[in-house]
Amino acid sequence: MSNESSCGSCSDSSCSAQSKKPNEGDREFQERQAIAARMCRIKKKIVVLSGKGGVGKSTVATNVAAALSLAGRKVGLLDIDIHGPSVPKMLHIEGSRVAGNETELYPVETASGLKVMSIGLLMQNKDEAVIWRGPMKYGAIMQFLKDVEWGDLDFLIVDSPPGTGDEPLSVVQLIEKPDGAIIVTTPQDVSVADVRRSIMFCRQLDLPVLGVIENMSGFVCPHCSEHTDIFGTGGGKAMAEEMGVPFLGAIPLDPQVVMSGDSGKPIVEGEAHTETGKAFGRVVRQLLESHLEEAEKNFPATSSEGNVKIAVPVADGVLCMHFGHCEHFAVFEVDAQNKKILDSQKLSPPAHEPGVL
Ligand code: ADP
Repeated sequence: MSNESSCGSCSDSSCSAQSKKPNEGDREFQERQAIAARMCRIKKKIVVLSGKGGVGKSTVATNVAAALSLAGRKVGLLDIDIHGPSVPKMLHIEGSRVAGNETELYPVETASGLKVMSIGLLMQNKDEAVIWRGPMKYGAIMQFLKDVEWGDLDFLIVDSPPGTGDEPLSVVQLIEKPDGAIIVTTPQDVSVADVRRSIMFCRQLDLPVLGVIENMSGFVCPHCSEHTDIFGTGGGKAMAEEMGVPFLGAIPLDPQVVMSGDSGKPIVEGEAHTETGKAFGRVVRQLLESHLEEAEKNFPATSSEGNVKIAVPVADGVLCMHFGHCEHFAVFEVDAQNKKILDSQKLSPPAHEPGVL
């Protein structure tokens, strides 16, 4: 399928845009089809989430998108962080005119070929506080997903609103099947607790967690290179292990990140040789080399017969939230098509090794 008008007439019988859902109105169905038509031209859709604002979610989204683009991929960056759309500033495209017509908006392309759309590009006054009520926010998110003409992309990185409330929920539900989420945290305990909620949020939505990034993890003095753990460090890694999700890496607290953000050149572009530039490089390499493919292979983990194996962590015979440290796994083999359990086994987990399942 290559364009909006052909949505619903392609041969992909598994696409939910093929038919109307029960109780779905004509307009909702058309909107869903229009989004599906855009999204099915994009190979990988990745949502960047954080438990709260200010932890560096937009910085991570921008650098990951820029690094993927520098690695030769066709990449779009969609900033729907309605309360703080900072991507235009970070890429020096504030004030760029967004071209479009009655039905489409065209992304702004940076000098390095990254396609960008941000709610900040459409605001008249960049200091204007966006005081929108819930339905307006939903409408804006819907419009962005439906109307932005990305063309064919390898990756769409979505800078989502923070938290686990209505707005990130709308993003995930409207995209329907994002390929995964990157969760950004800082090392403080309170932030790590927020991430736990973000992981639960992903699990409830069947959204694979591609990994956790601990941002602002230790400060390297630009003068003497001494490393100081201002907020502590390692909390994000320990939590990722405990929850059984990949840890993508730690990004130091680095004044250069702020300067790069202010100058409009992501650190992976202008300062790739620095400690922080290299740390972002490692994150993106990990994404490209393993986690995305893992998510693709394992989610859903469908065998050749169309059966699915589901591992449920248990302790004392009940569901346990510690996926990485549970007592046993109840492993069910399920006939996904007929929704029947074919077999179940109680297995002891192997030595703690995230990803081994
Ligand atoms: P969020 O999207 O989570 O609200 P931002 O990415 O906008 O957070 O970052 C908030 C502020 O923190 C920005 O000024 C940004 O430049 C700064 N920042 C983000 N990551 C780092 C870092 N690793 N070192 C120093 N400053 C950072």
